[in-house]
Amino acid sequence: MIQIRPDLMALLLFISVVFSACLKPQPATEPAPVSDTATAPAPDTAPTTLAPEPLPTAPLPDDFTIIAVGDNLYHETVMKLFLNDNSFDFAPYYQFIQPLAKAADIAFVNQETILGGKEFGFSAYPSFNTPQEVGVALIGAGFNVINQATNHTLDRGVKPVLATIDFWDKRPEVDYLGIFPSQETRDAKQVIVERNNIKVGFLSYAYGLNGLILPADRPYLISLIDTEVMAKEIDALRPLCDYLVVSMHWGVEYEFQQNKRQETLARFLADHNVDLVIGHHPHVLQPVEVLPRADGGLTYCFYSLGNFISSQMPNTTMLGGMMYLKAQRADNGIHVVESGVIPLVTHFEAGSVNFRIYPLYEYTNELAAKHLRNTEGNEISTAFFKSLAARVLGDALIDHNPYKEATP
Ligand SMILES: [Zn+2]
Repeated sequence: MIQIRPDLMALLLFISVVFSACLKPQPATEPAPVSDTATAPAPDTAPTTLAPEPLPTAPLPDDFTIIAVGDNLYHETVMKLFLNDNSFDFAPYYQFIQPLAKAADIAFVNQETILGGKEFGFSAYPSFNTPQEVGVALIGAGFNVINQATNHTLDRGVKPVLATIDFWDKRPEVDYLGIFPSQETRDAKQVIVERNNIKVGFLSYAYGLNGLILPADRPYLISLIDTEVMAKEIDALRPLCDYLVVSMHWGVEYEFQQNKRQETLARFLADHNVDLVIGHHPHVLQPVEVLPRADGGLTYCFYSLGNFISSQMPNTTMLGGMMYLKAQRADNGIHVVESGVIPLVTHFEAGSVNFRIYPLYEYTNELAAKHLRNTEGNEISTAFFKSLAARVLGDALIDHNPYKEATP
C-alpha cells in the first residue's frame, strides 16, 4: 500500500492537537462563597451537580474511497451458465467482490463488451454482445460507474451501442462512460459523482476499435484517444469537480509493463491536472506510477488492472487487480491518503462451472487445485499469483481487506 503523504500527516497532527485541546479538563467550578451569617440557609436553588457539558467533537475531514476493476470480459465459457440452464443469473460470479464494492463510495468497472440485448443475438470472441443481465449483476454487486469505451464497443455495429446506452439510461443509479447517442449529449454530459461533499468527475477514452472506424455521421459515438478532443473535454470538466478521474483503455496485451505511449499519455493527463488514471485492456496487471504536477498535485496512474473476469488462456490473465484509493480534503485540495491494488483471481472449474472472482487474500490452494487451468496441467497456485502480483505491483500491493483492517 502506498502510504500517507507527509503534508497529510501534518494536517492529521494539527487536527489531533485541536481535538485534544478541546478535550482539556475545565478548571473546577469555585464553590459559592459561604455567607458570613452562619444561620443563613443555603439557597435551595444552588446546583449540587453540574449538568454534563456536551463533548466537543472535531469535524471529520471530507473523504471518499474508490475501487476500480479491469475487464469484465464474457467469453463463451463465461456465458456458459446461462447457455446451460437459461438462468441468466451472473450474481454469484461477483459474490466475493460485492462486500468490497458495496463498502466503497465509488466502484468502477470496465465493461469490455456491449450489452446490446438479446434481439441482436448473444456472441462472444471475437465480436461480442453480452447479456444485459451482466449489467444487472454488476449493479447488484455494488458497481456504480461503468466504462463502456473499449476496443470491442463497435464489434456489432451502431445499433447495439445505442441499445447499450438505452439500457444504462434506464438505470440512473449508476453512471456510465464513453458512449453517446449524439454530439449534443456528449457536449452536455458531465459525469460528476458527489460523495461526502467531494465532487468526483469522470471521463473515458479507448485507443481504437479493433480496426473498425466510427461512422462518418457519428464521430461522437465512442470516446477515443485523441489528445485534442481530450484536452477540450478534460479542461471543461476540471473546474467543475474537486477530483478528476480518467479511464484509459490502452496499452499492449499481455505486457506486464506500460509502454512509452502510455507514459506519454499519462504525462499529458497529469499536465491537464487529472488526479487519477484508471487503465485497462492489457488483460494482465501493470505497475502504478505517481506523477508530480506543475500545480503541486499528484496524478495517480494505474496503468492496467488486468482482467476482472475472463476465460483467457494464459494463467497470468487469471490474475487481475482492484484499485483501492482513499482521498481526503485538505486546505489545499484533495489528497490521497491510501492507495494500492488488491490482486484478484478469476476462478473456474472443469466444465466451465463455478466462475467466481476472489480477492487473492481469500484464495486458497484447495481452490487452486480445482482451477480448470490446473486440471489442464498448468501451474495455478496462491504462490504463483502472489509472486506475480508482487513482481508487477511492488509497494502498491494490498494483501488485506482495506475496509476491515487498519493500515499496516
Ligand atoms: Zn480491450
